[in-house]
Amino acid sequence: MVETRKEAALFVVHYHEIALKGRNRRHFEQLLAQRLRDALGREAVVRLLHGRILIEVPADREEEARERLARVFGVAYFARVWRAPVDMEAIAGLALALLAGHQGSFRVSARRANKRLPFTSPEAEREIGARIVAATGWPVRLKGADAEVFVEFYENEAWVYTSRQRTPGPGGLPVGASGKVVVLASGGIDSPVAAWRMAKRGARPVYVHFHSYPHTSLDSLRKTEAEIEVLARWHGPARLYVVPLAGVQEEVFAHSPERYRTLLYRRFMYRIAERIAAGEKAGALVSGDALGQVASQTLENMNAVQAAVKMLVLRPLVGMDKTEVIAEAQRIGTYEISILPQQDCCSFLEPKRPATRSTPEQLERAEARLDVEALVDKALAAMEVRRVGI
Ligand code: ATP
Ligand code: MG
Repeated sequence: MVETRKEAALFVVHYHEIALKGRNRRHFEQLLAQRLRDALGREAVVRLLHGRILIEVPADREEEARERLARVFGVAYFARVWRAPVDMEAIAGLALALLAGHQGSFRVSARRANKRLPFTSPEAEREIGARIVAATGWPVRLKGADAEVFVEFYENEAWVYTSRQRTPGPGGLPVGASGKVVVLASGGIDSPVAAWRMAKRGARPVYVHFHSYPHTSLDSLRKTEAEIEVLARWHGPARLYVVPLAGVQEEVFAHSPERYRTLLYRRFMYRIAERIAAGEKAGALVSGDALGQVASQTLENMNAVQAAVKMLVLRPLVGMDKTEVIAEAQRIGTYEISILPQQDCCSFLEPKRPATRSTPEQLERAEARLDVEALVDKALAAMEVRRVGI
């Protein structure tokens, strides 16, 4: 028997094993277990048991645990489970209680972690199913059943739940499984979604926000922080680097052609972010660009901006429509914050007719009269670091 406290609620967590290859598996499971501990807090007991994760939380924390489990990347689905002895009568009785009021077809799906049990999984399914049919008359349907009873045999006990107790998780990989990224976060709709998508694939995000204070207000910074608070509920607390860009922008304004202004601001953002990434040992920069969304996001301009840095730049939203990004922002919980008014730092001294097709060479020439390194160093020297999300 797995030792548990009396007043505990039990959950079983499943992950997509197909995503796991050979030796990585153990590492993935341990990382996922750690992320579950981080999400659920000290009162939770998280155990790795032969390809499953069993979680025990105090009974009065059940609802909270449910909400938190639904936000842990790497969780394919989870279920509240009840324990029974390895006894078909007891298991069927438990399943009937869990399906109280059900009408329609059903099926039983069994799995055995303990291969020494004196029956096979199909035999257990048939025995339990027959008892449920005898008690209710519900028809058995193997494909497309209205309800499913799940039985997982573990050592000398069974964990029982039904499709009613099964909740989907977000999928993906546990945060940290894919290293670290530096996310350029503007306070707008797109960048939080880009960060969320990277975190879902196992990258731990570190954020950088650029503001033009005192030329614009600090609203964009406050919004960015509020968005990261929401994102932290998914990926845990994160660092936010706050960088003043006004000095860079004043120089660009004074010494470069107007039509390239926005693109030059962006090149500086990337350069500064690349330096932060080096300090953080991060493997990539992440931006919320979507192809063709605005003038700075044409293929030519994305290419010309990116040429300012060597580091990999990832754009997880590049193929998405704005309506899709908005729907995702709503699901994540950042949308309501993102649409609050703000003065974008790039709207400061925005060109009237921005270049829609630039080349790296054009932008290099446009920067010829700037001391690029000195401007980057100065911005970095004025940078502040904060921790967001507890
Ligand atoms: P978002 O909704 O993320 O602001 P957007 O559609 O408004 O995106 P832009 O303003 O062109 O597009 O910004 C494109 C990307 O550049 C952003 O997603 C973000 O990654 C980065 N970026 C823009 N402004 C800033 C900023 N002030 N600080 C940090 N990153 C920024
Ligand atoms: Mg923006």
